[in-house]
Amino acid sequence: MRKGITCDGDERYNYTIEECRKCALRGKMLCGRDPAIVLDTLNLIDGYIPTERDRPTLTVTDLTAVCHRKTYLQENYDYWEKPSDLFFLWRGTFVHEILSRVDNPAWIKEKKFAVPYTIKLNGEDIEVYIVMKPDVIDTANLDIRDYKTTGSVFKSTKTISMSYKYQLGCYRWGVKKHYDILCNTYHDTFIDMKQDKMFPIPLMPLEEVEKFIQIQGAKILDFRFNKNIPPVLKGYPHYWMCRDYCNSVIHLCTELHSKEGI
Ligand code: SF4
Repeated sequence: MRKGITCDGDERYNYTIEECRKCALRGKMLCGRDPAIVLDTLNLIDGYIPTERDRPTLTVTDLTAVCHRKTYLQENYDYWEKPSDLFFLWRGTFVHEILSRVDNPAWIKEKKFAVPYTIKLNGEDIEVYIVMKPDVIDTANLDIRDYKTTGSVFKSTKTISMSYKYQLGCYRWGVKKHYDILCNTYHDTFIDMKQDKMFPIPLMPLEEVEKFIQIQGAKILDFRFNKNIPPVLKGYPHYWMCRDYCNSVIHLCTELHSKEGI
């Protein structure tokens, strides 16, 4: 579980979210960061703490995670993160602002919904909810859109990450199940400091999506129910995901890895 915050100003100190919030409210921050951005990031973190009640739920984010081991470690160990490492959370809220300022009666915007589904785990049927919140479902053009802020639109559209393809595939599958609307296209809209680009993503057949949900869902349920720890990523620890996106739990992963004796 996330226990709190590692101070951006001095990595030797871990604080609770409340202590970090008080520091930001005082305005004289050791880390020298903007207090409004830090306070808003902290508000976004509060809603992220997983609970037991959430366990039979699989979000599209869980299903499309690049590393399930990271999810396992975050759910089962105490960890801390720096507010600056959570900048992506705050940056993403920019898109919600845009969507709240525009309207079209044909659009379903940022509506969270759950699709009941059955995952097979070791011969047993497990009833779960697949939870998702597509940014925009355009019911007039039968299109789904997801927005991503990025360092470079050019780089993001050169090599589209597989997890983006799976994410939109899951959305299209969920929209058909929940609203009985079959979309014909989906796009990622990438936004950087200079431009935006609506980029078409190749469609994933619905049967392929169900196979994907079964495979990924069984892996997640296996570690939630049976504590079977997911393996390290191929290429660990030099893989970009470990190096750049796993600051909070890479030390836990390394400790566990040496105990596993691999
Ligand atoms: S360090 Fe790499 S393998 Fe380990 S949990 Fe993080 S992303 Fe996964």
